[in-house]
Amino acid sequence: MAPPAAAARRAICGSGYHEPEGVARVADMKAAELLPIPNLLAMRRVLAIAPHPDDNEVGAGATLAKLIGLGARVDWVVATDGAVGTLDPSQRDSLVDTRRREQEAAIRVLGGGGLTWLGFADMTLRDRRAELTTAVFSAIRSAAPDVVLCPDPFMPYESHPDHRTLGMAVTEAVSMAHFPMVEPDAGPPVEPPAIAYYGTAWPNTRVDVTATFDAKLQAMWAHASQFTKPAQQVLGFYLRTRAAEHGVEVGVELAEAFKVLSVWHLHFFPDAWQS
Ligand SMILES: [Zn+2]
Repeated sequence: MAPPAAAARRAICGSGYHEPEGVARVADMKAAELLPIPNLLAMRRVLAIAPHPDDNEVGAGATLAKLIGLGARVDWVVATDGAVGTLDPSQRDSLVDTRRREQEAAIRVLGGGGLTWLGFADMTLRDRRAELTTAVFSAIRSAAPDVVLCPDPFMPYESHPDHRTLGMAVTEAVSMAHFPMVEPDAGPPVEPPAIAYYGTAWPNTRVDVTATFDAKLQAMWAHASQFTKPAQQVLGFYLRTRAAEHGVEVGVELAEAFKVLSVWHLHFFPDAWQS
């Protein structure tokens, strides 16, 4: 069987003896590049959906602060209460309240915005997948955002079931938010937003966050129950190093990286992972 480029050339040129100019461009074209990548920094209605308190900040805090500075409205959604996010069982009765306060403080550091708790218990998303999907549809349809941020559920080696489950629920809701008969109880359909995955292994967008990176770290450390001082040192160093590496790719000091896709990438487009 002829390779795709040869087949395309034959289909376009017939005999192939007199290839018009432009055929080379068709043959060289990559299918992955046919769909444009949405411009994250042009978005003005932004919805950031995290499995747990602190995930939005770790994955996208500096970019969210930058977007707010550019005039965007950012709404924050947290799916679970973070109730088991500790190695210290003595925090059993107090951790949910602590994490609520920490989340609110972190959002204030980054510039504010509405905060919605979906009300699921930590580590239960996998078992409550259908309810979660409905809740995410509802959040997206009520906010009608230009873009939704969440963890990349396709990240290889991700072990946390809440991250995988939440990311897939958001992906499904983004790709079908405009279908009125899908999840009809989750509100009227809206234009499908773009999706921006953080914590991605295949970024296609790097945002200059040199000016807001310190605010990201400050917001993260507002989650004091999650980051001890030694952990702050290690994680802060890792994140700054990684941001510098992403920055080199786009000629800035520090950058956060995302996989940004349109709704068209999210169904039956096997090139999306390399788009
Ligand atoms: Zn998490």
